[in-house]
Amino acid sequence: MISGDEYGILHRLILNDPIQPSPEGVLRLLGFVHLYSASGLHLLALEAFLQRLIGQSVYRKKILTLLFWFFIILIWKLQGFRLGFARVLVLFFLRALAREKGFKWRVYYPLFLALCFDFALGINSGWQHYYLAILGGMLGLELAKDQNVFIQHLYLAVASWLMTAPLDLYEHHTISWMTPVWSMITIPLIALILYPLSVFSYVILDRIPDFLMSVWNQGIEMLLKLADHGFTFSVVNESVILSSLIFSIVTTVIFLKVADKKYRKLFIISCLITLFGFKEFNLDTKVRMKLIQLDVGQGDSLLVKKNNLTEMIDLGTSRDVKPEAMILHLAKYGENQVNSVLFSHLDEDHAGGLRLLLPWVPTDHVEVNSNLERTEMMRNWLQFFPTTTWCEKGCFKSGSVDWINAKPASSKKIGNSGNDLMSTVMIQLSEKEIYLALGDSDSKQEEIFWNRHHKEIMMYPRRILKISHHGSKNSSKMDFIEKVSPNRAVISVGFHNHYHHPHFSVINLLMKEHIPIHRTDRDGDFEWQ
Ligand SMILES: [Zn+2]
Repeated sequence: MISGDEYGILHRLILNDPIQPSPEGVLRLLGFVHLYSASGLHLLALEAFLQRLIGQSVYRKKILTLLFWFFIILIWKLQGFRLGFARVLVLFFLRALAREKGFKWRVYYPLFLALCFDFALGINSGWQHYYLAILGGMLGLELAKDQNVFIQHLYLAVASWLMTAPLDLYEHHTISWMTPVWSMITIPLIALILYPLSVFSYVILDRIPDFLMSVWNQGIEMLLKLADHGFTFSVVNESVILSSLIFSIVTTVIFLKVADKKYRKLFIISCLITLFGFKEFNLDTKVRMKLIQLDVGQGDSLLVKKNNLTEMIDLGTSRDVKPEAMILHLAKYGENQVNSVLFSHLDEDHAGGLRLLLPWVPTDHVEVNSNLERTEMMRNWLQFFPTTTWCEKGCFKSGSVDWINAKPASSKKIGNSGNDLMSTVMIQLSEKEIYLALGDSDSKQEEIFWNRHHKEIMMYPRRILKISHHGSKNSSKMDFIEKVSPNRAVISVGFHNHYHHPHFSVINLLMKEHIPIHRTDRDGDFEWQ
């Protein structure tokens, strides 16, 4: 067990032992593929560096080669001789053999070998990313083997990215533009310093010294901060994917066919310019109001989009939904960045997604119901998110979405229970339609809310009601449902959740009233536009 490994990176790199919840998926999506996925790539960089040190001396070459293999076997042992790492070993071994024997085809064969190896073991989608990154790196190193260390690293970083980017485009409709830049920073730092130091201190001391641990953790935090910019990551549409796939195939073919190094450089530059240029095609100029109740398992999350501004109410839980799945979920709707977030309250199933969604969500645009002021919950929250706004009326400061007087539902004096401190949102969808959500309110709060706001609500002939507290039996009493008389009820609920939400009495009531029900566990996202 490695203590203090807050982000789980060393568990992954050294022990192949994931910790949950960890921001691994988010970091990968944002383009930090080499933080975790490529023990192989780190070893590759380490080997390239050692080769430099060796020079022409046969004696030193033998010692350093032995040391390198000792290091590889050591890591493999720490990882419990897992099968996946054997792929790296096979690649390294055959590459060394090909080099030793002076094979001319060594530039291309990592691709061939990696494919054969994975076909033999059975293709797994996670592996594709992994071996593409490694073989891209190998290819890059082979192509730049006579160049200086900086150029070699540039080739390694760009080539491994060029191999993985089309897969990301194809699978997730996303692309991380800054990956080669991140790799230029992280690969040398991790491969040459942090990784070997951590492995050896773990083996010798049976722990990793605090200062080293804090370098790791602060490094990751710094990277997350660096990635907190819209330009680092894009969501793209089908036509862009198709053009970039064709482009990458053509480029690869030309790249491999053209022997002249002068042209290779030219191709790399034109490649980067064209790929960055693709981003410009992705401008969405439509101005429309869109509202999506996201299926986030047992929790709540609403996406509101208007005039290219994206705002969210609650972010679901980190228990049911992996943060990267949440980002890809948003990517499906073309979202690159969330502009601000409002939390109905701070329970895990509504606010738990925030910490791991960083840096997707700008923490200086987080708003929480001001009823929570001075509570224990607020004090805990402020330790992590000191720039949170405690919103008087529970509405976004930016005002980009038409909120209607969304006051907290409770008028009771401040208690400590999250459900007593619920805020309510009303969103005007059109002249005639309104969306109403009371968070995890109970029937008492629903009543208070109704008494205060019924006039405003009744101005809208069509009403979408998100059923309170995931369909709990303590909310949504007949009186309230009859009065609101929604045209549609939405229940945000996890499949087979252990609270047994939604309660059959609530479902019965809605059916009796002939109100169509959309359940996220059964029907997925609820989309309105
Ligand atoms: Zn809840």
